Amino acid sequence: MLGFLKKFFSDFFYLIYPEVCLNCGKHLSVSEECICLECLYKLPLTNFHEEKNNYLEQIFNEKCKIENVTSYVFFSKKSIIQKLIHKLKYNGKKEIGLIIGKQMGLYLFNSKNFFCIDLIIPIPLHKKREKTRGYNQSEWIGKGISKSMNKKMNINSVVRSVNTETQTKKNKEERELKN
Ligand SMILES: [Zn+2]
Repeated sequence: MLGFLKKFFSDFFYLIYPEVCLNCGKHLSVSEECICLECLYKLPLTNFHEEKNNYLEQIFNEKCKIENVTSYVFFSKKSIIQKLIHKLKYNGKKEIGLIIGKQMGLYLFNSKNFFCIDLIIPIPLHKKREKTRGYNQSEWIGKGISKSMNKKMNINSVVRSVNTETQTKKNKEERELKN
């Protein structure tokens, strides 16, 4: 009975305030969350998870030895992903991280290079910045990956002790790893 009432009220609420896609503004169907399927499928996937010695791996290997490196999508200015990341980081839309993470996790779970990972460790924010934002966006992406890969996430192993300058004020070279 309680389940029925819950569904009744959520359907009723949906009729009055239908959720819209955070990118294109289209009404979402009940099976869609935050982003419509059309926008989700338009994201330019890198497919680096399938490619050994991919572009990113080469960059990382110049700095330190690393087993596998991947990135979910290619980033470009004024793209869907820029809009979504902006909302995730600056508009309090943390659920976007969960959705992106879930999608990314599905690809990683089906990849021979990543399916056997042990643990998911999101990059932490400095305490001050996390307090201002109210959450760590990486943690929300990690939650999504953790859910679709059925792997544990640990948020206590890595601590950011220095409050580094925001990435948005840095140029391309400054954004690269220096260690
Ligand atoms: Zn959309």
